Amino acid sequence: MAEKLHNDSFVYSTFANKNVIFSNSTNIQIIKQNFMSQSNLYGIGTPGEKWSALHISQWLSQQTVKRSFNEEVEEKLITIPKGFKKYPYGQLKYEREFQLAAFLPEHTKPELPNILITGGVHGYETSGVQGAIKFLLEEASKYLEKANLYVIPCVSPWGYETINRWNPQAIDPNRSFGNEAAQESKLLKQYIHSMQLEWDMHIDLHETTDTDNSEFRPALAARDGTEHPLWEIPDGFYVVGDTANPQHDFQKAIIDAVAKVTHIAPADENNCIIGAPITQRGVINYELVPLGLCASLTNAPYVSTTEVYPDSPKVDDENCNEAQVAAIVSAIEFVLGIK
Ligand SMILES: [Zn+2]
Repeated sequence: MAEKLHNDSFVYSTFANKNVIFSNSTNIQIIKQNFMSQSNLYGIGTPGEKWSALHISQWLSQQTVKRSFNEEVEEKLITIPKGFKKYPYGQLKYEREFQLAAFLPEHTKPELPNILITGGVHGYETSGVQGAIKFLLEEASKYLEKANLYVIPCVSPWGYETINRWNPQAIDPNRSFGNEAAQESKLLKQYIHSMQLEWDMHIDLHETTDTDNSEFRPALAARDGTEHPLWEIPDGFYVVGDTANPQHDFQKAIIDAVAKVTHIAPADENNCIIGAPITQRGVINYELVPLGLCASLTNAPYVSTTEVYPDSPKVDDENCNEAQVAAIVSAIEFVLGIK
């Protein structure tokens, strides 16, 4: 029997109870501030000041369960693809516990390339999770004799259920792979490092959404007591490579494959995508290690982060999932072609 989790009235409040939060004078201070600052527009905290634990609890108390990790993720993977097994690599202990799971071949082979596929580091980015599941169910078995595939469809189940970029401590897991700040990142990192493998490729599945500008960047500015520029959300798919190891041909192979499934994001008038200069069609680079991004998790020579745009009028959910699968398959094929 499926565990029912759809309950919009359910409210998380780990740190303090709401009565304490709303009787605090912080809210009165908020009202007295002028509302010109972006950080103030978010409605929690004081402009120019970082959030306190109380502000984080106030934010957390507003987060509700909007969809079911159990129904939309775990149940789809009850029947594990032939030749694969499920490995529980950790537990998140919040208001309720989440089992974290990796899927890997029953028999890995040391002579084959090791390939990592991660989704849902940002839990709200639906096609990252559903694309990884679709790949696992429909494509992964084809590579059993060619590669050791490690697929982790949903790194941040709490974020998936509450449609959040952050975890309950208001920490971004995809900025926390260089530290121990987020449990989601810490547990994944411990698992990956515990295997002591030489990795050949890692693809991390993400989305860039309209809510990045309407919700998550204003929340970030408020949390840090600073300003974060809003940028134009590009209409289309793009990838993020590593400034320190761009791998132009690898990124191009992904873009060319995804272009057959969905449209690629154009650069803006400054030749940028989300503020970063493009290096070729649909490709920008970030400094993965300094930013603590998930794509810095391994020592793999081939690394890419996908960014699907699910709010485009030209796409639907299935097209977004197909774009993620096309990206995964092309990245694997590129590496297998080299090996
Ligand atoms: Zn993301």
